[in-house]
Amino acid sequence: MISFIKKTISGLSKTSSRISNIFSGLSGKSHLEQSELDMLEEALLSADLGWELTENIIESLKSPNKKEISLTERFSNTILEYLQGIAEKKALKKVIVLVGINGAGKTTSAAKLGGYYSKSGETVSFVAADTYRAAAVEQISIWSKKLNLHLTANEYSADPAAVTYDGVSSGISKSHDRIIVDTSGRIHNSPNLMKELEKIYKVIQKLTEEVDVLMTIDANTGQNGIQQAREFLRYIPLSGVILTKMDGTARGGIAVPIMKELDLPVYFMGVGEQVDDWIPFVMEDYINALIQTDKEVISG
Ligand code: GDP
Repeated sequence: MISFIKKTISGLSKTSSRISNIFSGLSGKSHLEQSELDMLEEALLSADLGWELTENIIESLKSPNKKEISLTERFSNTILEYLQGIAEKKALKKVIVLVGINGAGKTTSAAKLGGYYSKSGETVSFVAADTYRAAAVEQISIWSKKLNLHLTANEYSADPAAVTYDGVSSGISKSHDRIIVDTSGRIHNSPNLMKELEKIYKVIQKLTEEVDVLMTIDANTGQNGIQQAREFLRYIPLSGVILTKMDGTARGGIAVPIMKELDLPVYFMGVGEQVDDWIPFVMEDYINALIQTDKEVISG
């Protein structure tokens, strides 16, 4: 598990650099001076943690410390309190459908998810239901060969629901533990495409009730990602979120507003383009990573 903690810290380093710098200069202090609070406020806002939470954190660090609780502990407690009562992560079901807008990182995440489950001993198959983009089918077929995992694709079918039906029923008949469906990117304001997604979901439901849908959101899109998910929710139920490209953004704090505003858990984070650049989301690790640097973990 330590490797996931380290990966979380290095994956979030662009987001955390300013926040952790401020915290590293505060050890031994019981509360923050106004100039430090101003600096921290700016850092939290630019990390995309949102106004409401930023204000809560500032309030909590402003008051003198009565109970000898460290500043970092107060920081974590405030985030945990803010997220209290939101939907909790459940064990994901057999069929996992990845949805999201074009370029969010669905196909890459499908491969990473397959690699992750396969490494933990499960039998996994992919379904290439992104029939609009030949490159996507090719991309997932390359990954499936690399990972030595089964793939259902049909280059002659333009009907993603039909490919999904074939792939999911094939995975079920082969008793695969996990069937991962890569769908094509939707423009969330295109009703026809969204209706098609609804059809894909219904087709799977005819085969099994064991289905979860994960919304893939590019962390760089910030608040827009929340809006995208809301549009998808008008057509299909979402079980949770995959946040991609956390490695390339200084705005990885968006995970918190996403969970709060959508009332959905984040299940995984993508932190690079390779199949192992993948982290199961653990709240405590995520919060620690916001205030810790790589150096501290290596020396600690
Ligand atoms: P899709 O259109 O949603 O299927 O998106 P793709 O999976 O094709 O990804 C779009 C681009 O983002 C590709 O160049 C991927 O290599 C890249 N990408 C996906 N996930 C990550 C990530 O976590 N980090 C980085 N740096 N790049 C990523």
